[in-house]
Amino acid sequence: MNILAVGAHPDDVETMCAGTLAKYASLGHKVFIATATNGDIGSATLPMEEIGRIRKQEAANSAAIIGAEYICLDYHDEMFFEEPRKTRLDFINLVRHCKADVIFTHYPEDYNPDHELTGKIINDIAVMIPIAKLETEEPPYDVIPSIWYFEPSCSMRFVPTDYVDITDFYDTKMKMLNCMESQRAWMADNYASMRGDEDRFFDTIRITSEFRGMQAQCKYAEGFVRALDGMRTRMTERVLP
Ligand SMILES: [Zn+2]
Repeated sequence: MNILAVGAHPDDVETMCAGTLAKYASLGHKVFIATATNGDIGSATLPMEEIGRIRKQEAANSAAIIGAEYICLDYHDEMFFEEPRKTRLDFINLVRHCKADVIFTHYPEDYNPDHELTGKIINDIAVMIPIAKLETEEPPYDVIPSIWYFEPSCSMRFVPTDYVDITDFYDTKMKMLNCMESQRAWMADNYASMRGDEDRFFDTIRITSEFRGMQAQCKYAEGFVRALDGMRTRMTERVLP
C-alpha cells in the first residue's frame, strides 16, 4: 500500500504518527510525509525564508530515516487559508502524486487553525481523487483513500478507535523527532507546559506513547480515530499495521 501522512507543519506528523509510519515502512509499504505549510514563523530570530528552508530540510531528514518521501505544499505558517479551487487542487494533486491508499491527518478539533484546516481539506477531497474532470498535473487513480486522524495537540477530547503497537519503532520515532532541532528551543519558549526545558517536548511524546500503550496493552502505542466515511471507503478493510 501507499501511505501518506499530511500535517500542517514540519514536526506534526512526526509527533503523532511517526511510529506507525516507521512500522509501515518496515513492512515494505511506500510512505510519504507531507506538510501544508513550510513552518516559516517557527523562529524568534531567523528570517521567515530561512526558518522555512531549515524546517523543510529537517522534515526531509526525518522522512529519510524511514525511506519516506517528503513533500511541502509551501503555504505560509499560521496564514494557511483555503483559496477557491487552488487549495483543493493542490491537495488532490498531492494525494494523486502519492497514489495514497491510506492517509493520516489532523483531527477536526485542535488548538491550531492550520491543523484543523489541513484535516478538513483532506477529508473534503478524498472522494474527488478518482474524478478525471478535476484536472491536476498528476493523473487520477481509482482509489478513495481511507482516512485516519492522529491525536490533536495535548490529546484534548480525543478517544482513539484504533491503536498501533509502536514498541519496536519508538526509538525510530524519537530519532525522527530529533531531526526537528530548530523547534526544541521554540517550543520551550512558546508553550507553558514546556517553558524553559527543551527536553520537555520529548517527555510529552513519551507520556502520550506510554498512555496509549497502557490502553492498548503494549509498551508504546499511537492512537487513531477512523474518519466516518462509509459512503466512500470499505469500512471492513483492516489497513493499520
Ligand atoms: Zn503544527
